[in-house]
Amino acid sequence: MFLDIPVDSGLLASLATGLAAGAVLGGWWGRRTLSLVPTEVDYQSRLETLARAQKASEQANSELKQALDQMQEAAGTDRLTGAWNRRRFEDGVIQHMALAKRRGDPLSLFIFDLDHFKRVNDTFGHGVGDAVLKSVCSTVRDQLRVSDALVRWGGEEFIVLCPATTLAGATILADKIRRTVEAQAMPQVGMLTISLGVAQRMAGEDLDVWLARADGALYRAKERGRNRTEASLEMVESHGDEAPSILALVWDPALESGNAEIDHQHQVLYQLSNNLLASITSGRYPEDAKLQMQLLLAHVAQHFHDEEAILARAGFPDLESHAKEHRRLITKAKSLQQEMGGAAADLPFLLSFLALDLVKGHLLGWDRRFFKFLGSH
Ligand code: GH3
Ligand code: MG
Ligand code: MG
Repeated sequence: MFLDIPVDSGLLASLATGLAAGAVLGGWWGRRTLSLVPTEVDYQSRLETLARAQKASEQANSELKQALDQMQEAAGTDRLTGAWNRRRFEDGVIQHMALAKRRGDPLSLFIFDLDHFKRVNDTFGHGVGDAVLKSVCSTVRDQLRVSDALVRWGGEEFIVLCPATTLAGATILADKIRRTVEAQAMPQVGMLTISLGVAQRMAGEDLDVWLARADGALYRAKERGRNRTEASLEMVESHGDEAPSILALVWDPALESGNAEIDHQHQVLYQLSNNLLASITSGRYPEDAKLQMQLLLAHVAQHFHDEEAILARAGFPDLESHAKEHRRLITKAKSLQQEMGGAAADLPFLLSFLALDLVKGHLLGWDRRFFKFLGSH
């Protein structure tokens, strides 16, 4: 800790030793030369000197700490973690927004927050808490590109700004970071997790609205059980002057199963499918279409896993064949992903997979078999 620097501890130690030595010498000399024995008054004045020295040293330390804080603030970094501070982010992001607009580049960010961090402080102390914050930041930084920025937004909440990155790219990065933090045991503390909320800036969107969408996604990640990445999916490739994509799956309330989690995941599946279709038809970023496919696949895999768990809990009798159908779809999606170049030529195959296999065949076919079952439980 800063206030323990050797200046004052050394000074205190030597003064204390001096006093102790005085006492011993006093005892020894006491039998011969009384004049050398420190009197009560001497002790008192030494103690006062000691107290004054300690006070002066504390004052110097606190001034030095303040000066250092000011220096760091001016440099735009947070002293504990080395991340950008809030002010630097607020200046920097405005420039990034202008640059992205000029170049027609996407711009994304994600907010992340340590899960149940209060418990870490309460159980192991603030010092360990600080070390955990540093360690998480270093893990996150290792995963970023040089153009990305890590920002300490406040307390145990951070932002990663990702220039030239779409929602799909930022979501994949965010979730990779989530998994890395989860896999890394913190000294003393053990496993620690983070929750993340991702948002791509929409054309003309104000910073606070954009941040509020990311924050909303983070809130959903916390609410849905923590150690999760949620994206703000409102954004479908819309650039104002372009007509909305004609290829879109339209959600129908008849698709609702009655189980809130399954319904939410089915709707996300629709949104991710639509984002993927829009990305391919716009032809804007072939690389992004591949990321969108990766994201869709990750979601489908997670969804199938969660759906099977829900069905197992409900005692659904056809679970085995339903799970087998899930595996068949995943295999098909994976082979499609491998063949995909992100170009318009992929559309017929992709559409056939999304509309026929996933929606018509699975959601409207297979899944309906458990709708009634879940409804009656
Ligand atoms: P949740 O999963 O909902 O985010 O729970 P949480 O416990 O992480 O959230 P909460 O907001 O209740 O607590 C955040 C804690 O983070 C409380 C605060 O003392 C601690 N914290 C904030 N900044 C620092 C810091 O610089 N160092 C340390 N050690 N702790 C900090
Ligand atoms: Mg928090
Ligand atoms: Mg927290």
